[in-house]
Amino acid sequence: MIRRLLLMLALLAATPAAAQQAQVNVTRTGDAFVAEFDLPRASPAWGFFRSSPARDKQSWRLQSWQVLTPGVALQRCGNFDALVGVNGRPIPPKVRVRVTPFTGELLADYVPALRLGGDSVAIFDGHFAVFSVNRVTVFDRLAGRPPPGSVIDTGTRVRFRGTNLRLAGDVDGYRRGDSEGTYGLYDVPRPVVRMGIATVLDTDLPQWIAADLASYTPRAIEVLSAGLGPSGVAEPTILAAWEGANREGASMNGGTLKGLILMRFEGRAALKPVPALTDLAHWFIAHEASHFWLGQSVHYGSQRDSWIMEGGADLLAVRTVQSLNPAFDGRAKLNEAIRDCSDLAFQPVATAIDRNQVRANYACGLVFALVAERASRGDFYSFVRALVAANLADQEVTTADWLAAFERAGGSRAQSNQIRVLVERGSASPKQAIAKLLRDAGTPFALNREGVPQLQ
Ligand SMILES: [Zn+2]
Repeated sequence: MIRRLLLMLALLAATPAAAQQAQVNVTRTGDAFVAEFDLPRASPAWGFFRSSPARDKQSWRLQSWQVLTPGVALQRCGNFDALVGVNGRPIPPKVRVRVTPFTGELLADYVPALRLGGDSVAIFDGHFAVFSVNRVTVFDRLAGRPPPGSVIDTGTRVRFRGTNLRLAGDVDGYRRGDSEGTYGLYDVPRPVVRMGIATVLDTDLPQWIAADLASYTPRAIEVLSAGLGPSGVAEPTILAAWEGANREGASMNGGTLKGLILMRFEGRAALKPVPALTDLAHWFIAHEASHFWLGQSVHYGSQRDSWIMEGGADLLAVRTVQSLNPAFDGRAKLNEAIRDCSDLAFQPVATAIDRNQVRANYACGLVFALVAERASRGDFYSFVRALVAANLADQEVTTADWLAAFERAGGSRAQSNQIRVLVERGSASPKQAIAKLLRDAGTPFALNREGVPQLQ
């Protein structure tokens, strides 16, 4: 007992670094939220890593946050929102901010908040992660993500406080840089847990959407788990919000965080069943849930390998939706990918993100996945299962790892080389390169008028 106590004392003494973290407590009292920032060092300004503007290109924080502490202002500094000391004075160690949940979409980030019916509100913790700068002018030189050394980041510990509170997703609450986080769910109805997946639905969601999500999601997870084995996520959560019937039409958008799939539905037409919206939602859930394996059990080695995760998740989604809904036209999805990859693979798939051609990772990744599926005797789940198993030690999958798994599954060395060339160098004639890949894999296809292979 004493030994343990001594050990604990030693541990306490050995964690001065932890004391350097910024701490943020987000507390709900009635309709109001207050974020209390405990800032560990004197600094003229603290910036927010995640500072994407809202759809109207304006800072959403400036529209919805109000600083309560005298001597501190919230400002847009270059590409960042920041707490700045008034008249060049340093920021006091405690800053309180009143937070009105902002539920609009951002240009390039998760929605800051979701209203989920009644008093229910979900708030994203990543938006409270802060860094300090030595001079306010530093912001002028920062473009996107601050380069190492330009700012001081000792991490931010975000804690949600309130009654009837739960967390969805990655719950450790520690954010460094723009690392992904979780939503704090305030006064949200108890989730329905089936097949190890928790579904949290907005109480205002149209009944047909709620019923469909509640029945489809566990079945999709069941198909994936049956083929892939247990995922890297203990109890994933699906969070679905209703944004109202003010707009015409019907739409859905969404995002994923570790262990969390987020969906937002809206539009007058969505009050009644819309088959196209159902298909979209099913596709989205299957793709995002596939990332519990390709993305979380294992992740890519570097951005150059992200085609493995996106193309793999796309083919898993096609096969999963097909198995649950035989009327789903998977071939249309596959042919769309072949077409897009033919347009994009003139340049290396590995550098698609640098060129803003993210689609190449999905489209060409799906083509390569199709070839791997053939090598695995038509069972893409078994290919992915073996790929994950072979890379669990470092949890990383690189292009070389994928090609090794492809050859182990029965793919030829020649095909493996062809895929490597498309990933690393691209092709002068992608249409022909893809046709050759499919032909050698024994996949039947015909050429359309433009000479692009299309599955029959
Ligand atoms: Zn994805």
